[in-house]
Amino acid sequence: MKTKKLHQDKVNIITLGCSKNMVDSEVLSGQLLANEIDTVHESTKKDHNIVIINTCGFIEKAKEESINTILDQVELKRRGKLDKVYVTGCLSERYKNNLETEIPEVDAYFGTMELPMILKQFEADYKAELIGERLLSTPSHYAYMKISEGCNRTCSFCAIPLMRGKHSSRPIESLVDEAKRLVQRGVKEVMLIAQELTYYGLDIYKQRELPKLLHALADVQGLEWIRLHYAYPSKFPIDIIDAIKERPNICNYLDMPLQHASNNMLKAMKRQITREEMEDLIGDIRHRIPDICIRTTLIAGFPGETRDDVEELKTFLQKMRFDRVGTFTYSHEEGTTAHDLVDNISAEEKEERAQEIMEVQQEISLEKNQEKVGKVFKVMVDKKEAGRYLGRTEFDSVEVDNEVIIQSKKKLAIGDFVQVKITKAYDYDLEGEVV
Ligand code: SF4
Repeated sequence: MKTKKLHQDKVNIITLGCSKNMVDSEVLSGQLLANEIDTVHESTKKDHNIVIINTCGFIEKAKEESINTILDQVELKRRGKLDKVYVTGCLSERYKNNLETEIPEVDAYFGTMELPMILKQFEADYKAELIGERLLSTPSHYAYMKISEGCNRTCSFCAIPLMRGKHSSRPIESLVDEAKRLVQRGVKEVMLIAQELTYYGLDIYKQRELPKLLHALADVQGLEWIRLHYAYPSKFPIDIIDAIKERPNICNYLDMPLQHASNNMLKAMKRQITREEMEDLIGDIRHRIPDICIRTTLIAGFPGETRDDVEELKTFLQKMRFDRVGTFTYSHEEGTTAHDLVDNISAEEKEERAQEIMEVQQEISLEKNQEKVGKVFKVMVDKKEAGRYLGRTEFDSVEVDNEVIIQSKKKLAIGDFVQVKITKAYDYDLEGEVV
């Protein structure tokens, strides 16, 4: 049953998955709006007649969420609440043929690199001059910047290269231009993201050029915080750390997924690095910037992981005392080389191991937070919730790290920086008063 077109088409974009997917949705929104197609992002209002779902296909849980979202939207279409449902993103890239067969109610499926094809559905043109122009879905004082797409690494558990292709860097000039536009719109902090940050430039400049990019971005007036996410440890270009040290507006922060610490697991995961090399690297990084905040990500329950491997990972955490840790449970992904291994650890056991690892980290996180009591930090005011201001120090990225509960007698402006003296420490948060 076709809804009576009472109004101009209005598109609602629904984004699932990671910050890289979110940037893609922001770029798509910018292109649709520039073609005068009314577009919103994650709208809860029911005033749109077309939906584009930007899916995630990384691990089992994410795939389930994507499929359920598609089914919800095609159900709305069946009930005449929507005219069109389009699907793009990683799940669509990876399983297009299956999806076309299993959920034929979707009007069209697109891959991760098919933005112009999506625009064609709206008789809209891709406007290259808009590079960097996007409808931000983050609060206006911070934004993600995707510096490259794809990945050339071969981690055995990872399906991302299957969905995002080979590594391709965006030129420094284009990124600096984008940063300037973002600052003009009120952005003070950018999170640099990629599948693998340290590879930046190897394709277009034939050498690693992340430090050069960092200095160019740090020169952008008004950019107060530049933050690095998704750095790969193997063959890590240590001059990245020197750039962080030299430039006050590059946060003393580094997100470097390590995934495991037992050499058996690192080898089976094809991480191209050993525990000893990781310890040396982190030691070198901390030698150069003693107060740098290091975030890492780990996988629990990889095929063949023994109790000894888990114990080794826990002792590694106790020894290295990372500031921030996230743990995923292993997902057996077809098309990856790990899929040839026997997924011999039950889902419950995987969860238990992840829990064990995070219990070790919880203690470390509290101890490190307690060391901050009495100290004063520059804090970005992010939001006001339940009458309380919440913010972050330079050691905390958005959504994944600690928050600072800010006690303030006077009204604070969202997006402003304030000096906060820490008065209380919690496992994963701090509390303090404006000074
Ligand atoms: S570096 Fe990251 S994106 Fe690339 S294969 Fe490894 S886990 Fe996947």
